[in-house]
Amino acid sequence: MEFPEGKRYETFVGYYRRKYGERLQKLVLDAGFTCPNRDGTVGHGGCSFCDNAAFHPGYSTPGKSLSEQIDEGITFHRVRYPRASHYLAYFQSYSNTYASLERLKELYLEALSHPSAVGIVIGTRPDCVDDAKLDFIASLASGKGLPGWRRTLKDGRVIDSPVVVVEYGIESCYDSTLARVGRGHDFECARKAVEATASRGIETGAHFILGLPGETREMLLDQCSAISSMPLRSVKFHQLQVVRGTRMEKEFSERPEDFLRLGLDEYVDLVVDILERLRPDLSIERVAGEVPPRFVNETPWGLVRNADILHLLDARLEERDTFQGRLYASR
Ligand code: SF4
Repeated sequence: MEFPEGKRYETFVGYYRRKYGERLQKLVLDAGFTCPNRDGTVGHGGCSFCDNAAFHPGYSTPGKSLSEQIDEGITFHRVRYPRASHYLAYFQSYSNTYASLERLKELYLEALSHPSAVGIVIGTRPDCVDDAKLDFIASLASGKGLPGWRRTLKDGRVIDSPVVVVEYGIESCYDSTLARVGRGHDFECARKAVEATASRGIETGAHFILGLPGETREMLLDQCSAISSMPLRSVKFHQLQVVRGTRMEKEFSERPEDFLRLGLDEYVDLVVDILERLRPDLSIERVAGEVPPRFVNETPWGLVRNADILHLLDARLEERDTFQGRLYASR
């Protein structure tokens, strides 16, 4: 099996580079949303692992307008990716479809009006979408809801519809896990949201946490068939990082035996095993998370950056002479 760019799995960066001819850099935005699992609509305490403060960079704070956040984000990323010229406005914090349709229209259109923005990525919960919201998002994805919108890519191509991705936090395919972490929705809710989104032609992504309490290595491998069966374009995985001050920190100190605690080497092997079981055309956007050390209760792997983990993953795939989807066809 051949994957582009010499890889043994389908990378998300590569997918966009092939499609648009350049790297599209995500800029994290905080549009001031909240979450129904925090404001009492679904629950009060949030998911047991959640502390949104741990997950967003300094330039994205809700006191600033979206345009300011995008401008500051571009300046921030220019140091690391000096060749990037187009950006995806990433509505990341909390549940970014949890507002009236009118409010969502204002926010998404403001982000897409920035001259360097070629798209938006909307992170949300599966229970925070409905037909009207998805229809509107689909109208943005097709360009019909944005008459006159144009961007010229680096290679000179003109696009008249933006990149539009809805990214769902699914976290686990097991209802027992979702209940234990206080998620407030089940896996069926996630599956239906993914299907409703993808069926409208919207690129759909999902996020999963590896190592939530009660989950074993076998469970993480078994859920690959459920992940692959959904019409997802991309997936993100990250290892459970226990954030200080969360309910999960308490649970972790009381019942450490319920948590899968893998060394870095074992984790890389787990990711390889997962890749082998996934649909080969699923883009892999992330295989590990990077919560700043000051937020987490322990850093068992030391200060390893995502780039280091990706190098280890490439080497392990090579060593095991395997690739994404190797065990998918035979399932
Ligand atoms: S749904 Fe997201 S924002 Fe809301 S509590 Fe859970 S992890 Fe936090």
